[in-house]
Amino acid sequence: MDEFELIERYFAKVGPLRNDVALGVGDDAALLTVPAGHELVACTDTLVDGRHFPVGTRADDVGWRALAVNLSDLAAMGAAPAWATLALTLPAIDEDWLEGFVSGFAALATAHQVALVGGDTTRGPLTITVQALGLLPCGSALRRSGARPGDLIYVTGWPGDAAAGLALIEGRLAGQGADRGALEGKFRRPEPRVSFGQRLRGVASAAIDVSDGLAQDLGRLASASGVAATIRAAELPLSRALYALAGEARARDFALGGGDDYELLFTVPPAARAALAAVSGSAGAPACHCIGEIGAGRGVRVLGERGELPVPRGWDHFLP
Ligand code: ADP
Ligand code: MG
Repeated sequence: MDEFELIERYFAKVGPLRNDVALGVGDDAALLTVPAGHELVACTDTLVDGRHFPVGTRADDVGWRALAVNLSDLAAMGAAPAWATLALTLPAIDEDWLEGFVSGFAALATAHQVALVGGDTTRGPLTITVQALGLLPCGSALRRSGARPGDLIYVTGWPGDAAAGLALIEGRLAGQGADRGALEGKFRRPEPRVSFGQRLRGVASAAIDVSDGLAQDLGRLASASGVAATIRAAELPLSRALYALAGEARARDFALGGGDDYELLFTVPPAARAALAAVSGSAGAPACHCIGEIGAGRGVRVLGERGELPVPRGWDHFLP
């Protein structure tokens, strides 16, 4: 199979047919129509084999993850995903692997109406770069920089589950049965909060997605906003499965310092609490918990029952 056949077979028809794609896979570049009154939102994320997922991860899970981490960035901006490009570097043509990869990618693309409109295919160590493109009504983006003292801090879902799932896969945490399956599933198939992110437009004052650990990502939001953030440890949502396998203290460390959650972390002014209640009570909304408050100053503090707790470090590729 040559490169042309490979592209035709696997990548020419991934995701829905969208009428805003004037030209998709097959030419030198794609032609996409941005509707009037909208901004184009662009983000990109790379996955490296053995770095962002364990060597030997199922190909369909790799395909899902490559798109999911990007859709999570669009969700954190409040954007509606529309299109994606895929730069794939493969050690060899392995048809089983490619079929699995595309099936995982396409499942998520179809669920969120994302059309694959182009990419690049090269030979080398397994590396996947996806660029996701989304749309926003002009001026309505959720940024990291909008949090103000007095705003409440919220997180969706159950932070720490995915990091515990990876720890189970890598043998750093022990456990069996349904709890193990639930946590591993959270790592294998993160669910980007795509529609919830859009519903937070006009409600949240700032937002970020949690990829590198809740405390660290909250620190990024706080520093972009020029404010301090305080988390109350007792309010951290810990899933039953995480609590059961890790115990309270370690569960809290997973929740604060583990990465790969792809949950939304956002702030809400007190005056917008009713609007948030309406949004988080609507059909299909994820669980959503208030975990603390924004104040004047800088940095992130975690308050336990008996004073301040150490803030676990998150993920950093270039940490010595
Ligand atoms: P060029 O040589 O002009 O860069 P390529 O041969 O790399 O073109 O790609 C041909 C077409 O296939 C282009 O439209 C490109 O966007 C698309 N394409 C290549 N690889 C992928 C891929 N992995 N996923 C989606 N589209 C791809
Ligand atoms: Mg070309």
